[in-house]
Amino acid sequence: MSKTLSKLGEFGLIAQIRERFPAPDGVTGIGDDCAILPPAYSKDTLVSTDMLVEGTHFLLKDIAPYDLGWKSAAVNLSDIAAMGGKPTGTFLSLALPARLDATWMEEFLHGYGDLCKQFDTPLLGGDTTASPDRICINVTVLGECPTRFAKKRSDAKIGDLICVTGSLGDSAGGLKAILKGVKRDADVQKLIDRHYRPTPRVAEGLELRLNLGVHAMMDISDGLGSDLQHILDASDVGAEIDLVALPLSLALKHVCQSQGWDPLQLAVSGGEDYELLFTCTPQAEAMICVPHFVIGRITKRSPVQPGMTLTGPGIVWRGASPSFADSIGKSGGFDHFKKK
Ligand code: ADP
Ligand code: MG
Repeated sequence: MSKTLSKLGEFGLIAQIRERFPAPDGVTGIGDDCAILPPAYSKDTLVSTDMLVEGTHFLLKDIAPYDLGWKSAAVNLSDIAAMGGKPTGTFLSLALPARLDATWMEEFLHGYGDLCKQFDTPLLGGDTTASPDRICINVTVLGECPTRFAKKRSDAKIGDLICVTGSLGDSAGGLKAILKGVKRDADVQKLIDRHYRPTPRVAEGLELRLNLGVHAMMDISDGLGSDLQHILDASDVGAEIDLVALPLSLALKHVCQSQGWDPLQLAVSGGEDYELLFTCTPQAEAMICVPHFVIGRITKRSPVQPGMTLTGPGIVWRGASPSFADSIGKSGGFDHFKKK
């Protein structure tokens, strides 16, 4: 039988983590009470944190530990990418049941480490504690960006184009395939891979940050419908989206066709694609080198009509059938405290 965490112990696990994640030169990482980072001259520090709870964000029986490690790091780096920042370090706090297999933990750290290596981001510390039952993973990520150049949600301007960096709905399609136990052919597997191993668009965010005509930016974690609404609310503007312009992967189209699912519904309401959503002037769009798709434009915010809520009136879906528009209006994106 393989070793459990109760055998390995808290300090055994921390020693393993420390060995796997050495600190870069000039930085004090794992091992002291605090990490020490040198000040970054004329840079803003970006900080974000995200929690993944067993049963809420993942099911232990479904997700491989490598993928969970990868995804825990990826969703955090995506928040730095969303501001146009460069990730500079992560902190990993773990609440783990003592019965957990030590090899499960090894695999988790392997996935976490591979994602971080790809983006040259060290693990600088964290906390390790026992959990009575479920696994809870909290990652904090640090990033940097030249002072006052981070891209915020509140900077969208009327007349801007609305763009995304890649196809939408794949992750939601992958999740649906997992939950429904769809047979895993090559296309289904592509969608599942996008669900379990998202790529944070760090290089894309860095390029977009250099373009001064790129105004508002965020990453799509909850779904286009719900995330675009955040930009509209923060910027006090409205939007028109051309449904025919939404980028859909061939894999998603094939799987939806064979399963009888609506790809547009997945692209608009499904989350976890971790593509960047941004607004920019038409002139700025012509200068963008990273792959991107124009999906609509920023308009004046339509006045709130009686019966409308403040969040929701901002988006006109061009090319939508009345039933689609109605279902989008009702389903929106993901909200942890609302039952579907
Ligand atoms: P303290 O009791 O002072 O909080 P700990 O024993 O919790 O210290 O942690 C010792 C060192 O190990 C610290 O540098 C801490 O950041 C690091 N550490 C603990 N758990 C983790 C983890 N899960 N991932 C990365 N570093 C960790
Ligand atoms: Mg501690």
